[in-house]
Amino acid sequence: MIKFLDLKAINAAYENELKEACARVIDSGWYIMGNELEQFESKFADYCGTKYAVGVANGLDALILVLRAWKELGKLSEGDEVIVPANTYIASILAITENKLVPVLVEPDIETYNLTKEGIEAAITPRTKAVLPVHLYGLISPMSEIMQIAKEYNLLVLEDCAQAHGAMTGGKKAGNWGDAAGFSFYPGKNLGALGDAGAITTNDDTLYQALVALRNYGSHKKYENKYQGVNSRLDEIQAAMLSVKLNYLDSETEHRRKLSSVYLEGISNPKITLPKCFNSDAHVWHLFVVRCKNRLDFSEYLVKQGVQTLVHYPTPPHKQEAYESYTDLNLPITETIHREVISLPMGPTLSLEDAKKIVEIINCY
Ligand SMILES: *Cc1c(COP(=O)(O)O)cnc(C)c1O
Repeated sequence: MIKFLDLKAINAAYENELKEACARVIDSGWYIMGNELEQFESKFADYCGTKYAVGVANGLDALILVLRAWKELGKLSEGDEVIVPANTYIASILAITENKLVPVLVEPDIETYNLTKEGIEAAITPRTKAVLPVHLYGLISPMSEIMQIAKEYNLLVLEDCAQAHGAMTGGKKAGNWGDAAGFSFYPGKNLGALGDAGAITTNDDTLYQALVALRNYGSHKKYENKYQGVNSRLDEIQAAMLSVKLNYLDSETEHRRKLSSVYLEGISNPKITLPKCFNSDAHVWHLFVVRCKNRLDFSEYLVKQGVQTLVHYPTPPHKQEAYESYTDLNLPITETIHREVISLPMGPTLSLEDAKKIVEIINCY
């Protein structure tokens, strides 16, 4: 069986370095908010090209805390509308509603699965205060256009970079376009910890100060609390794991790009719709997502042929019980996407030979 993703193999490649880093943290006697976190934050900010990175407990918290900070700083208030793609992973929307803001679900482009300039413009109302573009599956959104609209309508931009570490457009990386960005280092993400972890990137000093306090009980100074904050810190152990793995992110992305070329150039079955990528820097191929009208039949065929697939995602957020009040929205593109998408094996340890085998199997379907 060709696995969809082999997490054990991914980390086994760096076993010695990870164990050394782990031992260093154990021996240090310091486990939260220490050197490992500082070093990782500075390395990750350098990687993204931003002034700051703030480590937090996970990707959802990263998004929640940015919106929360904007509320504390008077830039957002309850009831403000936030534009978000309707086909995103539900976490992007949870971050909005957790802050008592109103998600405005906008249809994505069927070819890129991301927000478009036109979609955003049509959704803007006098209550719109922010846009939350999601670089879904690893493809960066049209950020230069989005920033232009944001400037025109005075909107805040929060990038959801959970799937797009290192994706780039116009020479600038994901996480360095918006006013702030949230990253996830969930183990299966392109940069994955060995547990939960996340980070926020920004170039804004005031926002940075607020975030550093909010993630640590709202404390800006030991035993002094400016905000009613939360505990959402990135552990020393995970920061140490991430510093090791960040060194290999670009070479892993290169491998993902090679795999995607094998798929894109090889798959010629008319029953399968391939993803579009107009510029190789723009996509880091967190997932290789194709569409098939009869997804169930296709996935069963692949399993019989020894290929494991997954669906990202089977149910759109507005059809989830959690968002019952959104269920009647008319979102035909989003619903088509959720009905037809299927993700092929993709990851730094999948071999090009296996990808070629998968191509042959798909072309015989
Ligand atoms: C994974 C993911 C998140 C949430 O990250 P966690 O670290 O799992 O909390 C948010 N948005 C998107 C698009 C994701 O894929």
